[in-house]
Amino acid sequence: MSHQPVIDGLEFARTGLAFQGTWPVSAFLRLCELLRTEDGTLHYELRGVPEKQGRLGLKLKVDGALQLVCQRCLGALELALRIDVSLQLAATQAEVDAEPLTAEGPERIVAGREMPVRDLVEDEVLLALPLAPRHERCAGGQAQALQDEEKSPFAVLRGLVSGSKH
Ligand SMILES: [Zn+2]
Repeated sequence: MSHQPVIDGLEFARTGLAFQGTWPVSAFLRLCELLRTEDGTLHYELRGVPEKQGRLGLKLKVDGALQLVCQRCLGALELALRIDVSLQLAATQAEVDAEPLTAEGPERIVAGREMPVRDLVEDEVLLALPLAPRHERCAGGQAQALQDEEKSPFAVLRGLVSGSKH
């Protein structure tokens, strides 16, 4: 694994720099704790947004797929990531706290002289993850239930009755 790229946030924005890259999902340690497997890669594009309306900022795009666990059937669930966010840079945390956050407004972060790009990407990916990922339809579980029913409706009934006693 090559060294981790860092940016000087305000300078990067001011000069409108841009770069992109690809990381294996396994490089994101915090993220991996939430995944079923560490397969795949994430591609990112980071662009500096020069001063407009008095605000320096960053545009970050992340594309890729993550292997999650469905919280209903515990089966594999692939999440297609399409992140496209604007981040406003503030010089200090006090500046960030001074303005109330709005749902529509861009996220604000404190600019640093050495901002690790991988952490920026990972923060946004973590924010984009659903709290409780679920299939729209848990195919595996439902198909299994149907098969059981076809074999023996009484088995299912017995299950219901004995289940209700406890
Ligand atoms: Zn499921």
